[in-house]
Amino acid sequence: MKYHTTLSKRGLMKLLGLGENTGAMGIVSSLYRDLDEVKASPVAERKLPGWIKEVDKPTVEIDWNMMKRFDSSNIMLTNGFAQAVGPENAMKSGGHAVARGTKTILENEPGFTLRDKALVAGGWATSLLTMEHAFLGPGITVPFKMSGIPDDLDYPRYEGTPEENTQMIRAAAKLYGAASVGVVELDENTRKLFYVNDAWPWDGRKWEFEDVDKAYEDKNKKVIPYKAKWVIVYTIRMSPPSLATAPAALATAASASAYSRGTSVQLHLQQFINRLGYQCLADGNMGTSGNSPGFGVLAGLGELSRLNRMISPRWGPLVRVFKVITDLPLAPTKPIDAGIFRFCRICKKCAEVCPSNALSMETEPSWEVQGAWNNPGVKAYYEKAPNCLSHWLKLGGHDCGICLASCCFSKQEGSFIHDLVRQIVATTPAFNKMFRKLDADPGYGKDPEAWWNLNLPSYGYDSKQGS
Ligand code: SF4
Ligand code: SF4
Repeated sequence: MKYHTTLSKRGLMKLLGLGENTGAMGIVSSLYRDLDEVKASPVAERKLPGWIKEVDKPTVEIDWNMMKRFDSSNIMLTNGFAQAVGPENAMKSGGHAVARGTKTILENEPGFTLRDKALVAGGWATSLLTMEHAFLGPGITVPFKMSGIPDDLDYPRYEGTPEENTQMIRAAAKLYGAASVGVVELDENTRKLFYVNDAWPWDGRKWEFEDVDKAYEDKNKKVIPYKAKWVIVYTIRMSPPSLATAPAALATAASASAYSRGTSVQLHLQQFINRLGYQCLADGNMGTSGNSPGFGVLAGLGELSRLNRMISPRWGPLVRVFKVITDLPLAPTKPIDAGIFRFCRICKKCAEVCPSNALSMETEPSWEVQGAWNNPGVKAYYEKAPNCLSHWLKLGGHDCGICLASCCFSKQEGSFIHDLVRQIVATTPAFNKMFRKLDADPGYGKDPEAWWNLNLPSYGYDSKQGS
């Protein structure tokens, strides 16, 4: 059965959140005559290069019986660090971070100067603005008839097949700035990737699923209806030249601004999906509702890695993963195999350069967790997270990022991991050792002063590199 929307161009503009802007209307009108053309646009289809295989199960083993929904108070940035090192030590490390934060500015320490740190603060700005009010989306505050509350629509809601809807969402999310987009269907297993309670330290409310028609929140909980069973997962790229200055504050600025752009895509998607007549729910976009990299792996946006984080086949670990939840019926996307998790077995580069010995040096992944900060049920390279956060605090409260920058898959245009090498890694593991040896560039520690004169493209990365 073929569905077709009857929305006007003006309606489409509103759906895309562009209001009555005539310049934008001209551009959008020439690009997409209606929603069906949005779905048919070149960015809508999942076009994986031939060397990335779609697979039925992720390349990492998962035992859903071992996994439970995770108590997010065990996360390092909530109470996990104090539990792991003791409250006194945690307090001391925090005090050191604050003192060093000021000292580096006063002493103009390269990589941690006032302008570097101000760039970090600017990077976070959009993301932090929405933390408290993200769950139901921004539509409820829009003061006109298409209020974004599905029941209040004065037109029939949009109807499409799940496959068409996934294609449409991919097109819309990419227009808004996502680098890659996938879908995970929630069931009794995948719901375990949601935390028991929100990990944002000033929130902490429970995440619950109920057999209700509409999502709601009160002072104790945020409730996702069982019928909202599709998670849209998307990535935002981070700037490679900025990460290459790691552990300087400029690397954190790249990460922070990616979070803000992730927030922007989230708000766009919430408004878009609300106007179609469906719910679109989110955390505050810092991953505080659940395991975003886990959803990314299940949606096929990348593979798990020795970092115990997702690695994209195209951009390596230089992406942040975000998610929203909807009752718009969607077709799930499959996990992928690009040889990444297999490459990690022999590589170990990130673990060798980690200054805090936080990453596993074992060849084989394990079911054994390292502490309460890990959620069991995945045969992974579990990390010693307290070591990592201790190092961040030594730096003055900034991300370190050395492991992300050093990863062989972070090398992009004009470097040894070009497409041919990626293809061989994906298909012929016999060459993995040789490729690892060839990657002699540490990838991190570049001059932070020189960064300010690089004249980088928008967002600090070349947008021609893959899709
Ligand atoms: S961020 Fe730094 S300290 Fe933490 S795991 Fe990566 S390299 Fe190690
Ligand atoms: S540096 Fe090597 S071992 Fe570490 S995540 Fe990247 S590919 Fe895997």
